[in-house]
Amino acid sequence: MGIDRYLATSGLKDIKILHDMVTETRKICNDKLNNYINIYQEKWNLTSVSLCIKKMFNPKIYDSAVTSCMYSDQQRVIYVLLDGFGYSQYLWLSNGLKERKSTTFGINLFEWLQGKDEYNDKLILGSTLITDTGAALTTIFTGLLPVETRVISSKVYNGTLNDKEKIADVKRVAEGGLSRYIGKKPETFLNHIKDIQFNILSATKSSKVTSDFTKMLYGDNNVVNIDPSDRLFKNIVKTIVNNKKQLIIAYYPLIDHSGHTIGSFTSFESYEYEKLNLLLVEFMLDLAKNKKEIFDGKTTIIFSADHGMFETSSKYITKKEIKEEFEHSKLKSPYISVSNRCLLFYDINRMDLEESYSLIKGLLEKKGIPNRIYRYNDPIIEKLLCKKNEPIDYRAPDIVCLFSDEGIAVPFKDIDETMLHYGGHGGCSSEEVFVPFITLRLTERLYEDLTGYFSKLG
Ligand SMILES: [Zn+2]
Repeated sequence: MGIDRYLATSGLKDIKILHDMVTETRKICNDKLNNYINIYQEKWNLTSVSLCIKKMFNPKIYDSAVTSCMYSDQQRVIYVLLDGFGYSQYLWLSNGLKERKSTTFGINLFEWLQGKDEYNDKLILGSTLITDTGAALTTIFTGLLPVETRVISSKVYNGTLNDKEKIADVKRVAEGGLSRYIGKKPETFLNHIKDIQFNILSATKSSKVTSDFTKMLYGDNNVVNIDPSDRLFKNIVKTIVNNKKQLIIAYYPLIDHSGHTIGSFTSFESYEYEKLNLLLVEFMLDLAKNKKEIFDGKTTIIFSADHGMFETSSKYITKKEIKEEFEHSKLKSPYISVSNRCLLFYDINRMDLEESYSLIKGLLEKKGIPNRIYRYNDPIIEKLLCKKNEPIDYRAPDIVCLFSDEGIAVPFKDIDETMLHYGGHGGCSSEEVFVPFITLRLTERLYEDLTGYFSKLG
């Protein structure tokens, strides 16, 4: 509804009514879903990803509610990691975009696969407490929650450093620099899998990702950057080898990117989904045509994500507003880290914790931004985000504030309201927290179905 509303200058009134209706319906559903958010984040979270992959290659891996659904005799796993593809977006793509199916191939792939025995889209995982790429990818590839890895969002913080360095983007920290923020880097789960060939394909520009973060995720394994991103799936097929156990990891960032720039649930974004659908249909046909031998029940494709996206349209708060509110009170102004739908407050005098908490809560209420706000010693923080007694360098934020509905945080300036139509994440809405964990086993029957459907292959 974001960019559509912005563009619909003539019919704004109608759009507003529609927007209010959608918002109201969403609120009813979300009030129910909200009770499950923390449960998923505790029990069925992103640490399950590495366990599932290990389980697929090794039946001896301990069974959990999630891993017990996996076949454990796989020769090959292709893990397609779609950045910013939440469960509601999956539902939107597979059920809501029927009119947008590809004209060339005539199917919506996910819709077509639903109901087949080889396809399981029933598993849903909870993203990290702060639904940010840095934290979520770290959890996926180390199998550890932020409370262990110290990567709590995409920003890392060390209060003992000078103002310029205090806060850094975990993905951009120069080589060797990460330890200043998180201490010893956690180890990738890939180091715990033996006798398997790894192929890591990342559809990001290599200059954007520094080796320290990449090394943490993938260890010493070679990472192949695919540019342009759309060629990712073609490259997966080329990477497949026979007669060897193989794990292919394929990272696709476009859903996250376009969601940030143009809105996550807009008609513009639906074209991004149509493109993904086309790429996936082509991918399946490419496999059927050129790798027929892997349709033997021993190859599984996983489609999953790090976090979902939320669509926001008008409400926002600036760092400046918060700072001013603190200045007007007698409280010491905290150090604030802004990550579009999440606010982290550091360096609060702990004697002032309650008062600072009330001040932030009150200000967000005044701005009409629904949120969940935690103090450093709240049980959920200790379980999912940070330990209470960390050394000063890695100290936890004193207050964490996550947006649960409309709203974003912007660092400094007041911005033009017409530009406030876009998707974001970092907050705690069900759209951001719940991600799909879909498995598709390639079998002979699936091969028959595919080639039968697309008879030109036959
Ligand atoms: Zn992401």
